[in-house]
Amino acid sequence: MRPRKGSAAICSRCHQPAPGYDQLGERRFEFIPLWGFFVFLLYTMRRVDCRRCGAVVVEEVPWGNGKRTLTKVYMLFLAGWARRLSWKETAEAFRTSWEKVFDAVEHVVTWGLEHRTLGQIDAIGVDEIQYAKGHKYLTLVYQIDIGITRLLWVGKERTIESFQGFFTTMGEAVISKIEFICSDMWEPYLKVIREKCSEGLHILDRFHIVAKMNKALDEVRAEETRRMQREGRAPVLKKSRWLLLKRSENLGDEQHFRLRDLLPEPRSPELNRDKQNERYR
Ligand SMILES: [Zn+2]
Repeated sequence: MRPRKGSAAICSRCHQPAPGYDQLGERRFEFIPLWGFFVFLLYTMRRVDCRRCGAVVVEEVPWGNGKRTLTKVYMLFLAGWARRLSWKETAEAFRTSWEKVFDAVEHVVTWGLEHRTLGQIDAIGVDEIQYAKGHKYLTLVYQIDIGITRLLWVGKERTIESFQGFFTTMGEAVISKIEFICSDMWEPYLKVIREKCSEGLHILDRFHIVAKMNKALDEVRAEETRRMQREGRAPVLKKSRWLLLKRSENLGDEQHFRLRDLLPEPRSPELNRDKQNERYR
């Protein structure tokens, strides 16, 4: 490829035409492969002596970007496939490297973030995911409004500092309008939400509440069993978890007797259960 005769080069810093300075060596830009053939655009980049910027700057070209060797259209193409296939599969299918697929995705994501309109966000959800087989976590924040659910932000780790990064990125104007926040019971998240979103309604995951309840119940049983053993009494609380959690009509005869031994005074576990359930609904 050659520049059109007499056309001025564009300064890549201020995006305005500028007088030429010199030429650099020929560069190869990778285009979308056609029928298994690699396609390259060859072009000799010019440099401009831009008075506006007061510097000698490399020219801007419409098909490429910065120091990347892939053309924009090829990056879009790869990033599109990388949504359907894994990055590794994408690289194999088009005989390119994982790094180039990564570059392409990064380019598209950067473009998307620069051109993203946030608008009003009513509800967000925060969650963590584990990766790399170890105890490595990412914090993910989603917009979960009716009609628009999207990933808003990803942060390293699941600490107070990492989650605070979300609020810094979004800015006060967006944050102050958030009405609902959903999360699990991970302590750092709870803390940051209390601090940054005290006006919003904080909704906790039912699954986590029940899990915490069960854990608390087990801890109390274990502690009481140890205490009773220390005091030389029969450990009636051992293996009693299901006894305490089961609906009374599902208990067998023997279980009924055991439960009666267990509880301080006659009462209906059924009633209790319903009361508890009410709070989760
Ligand atoms: Zn310039």
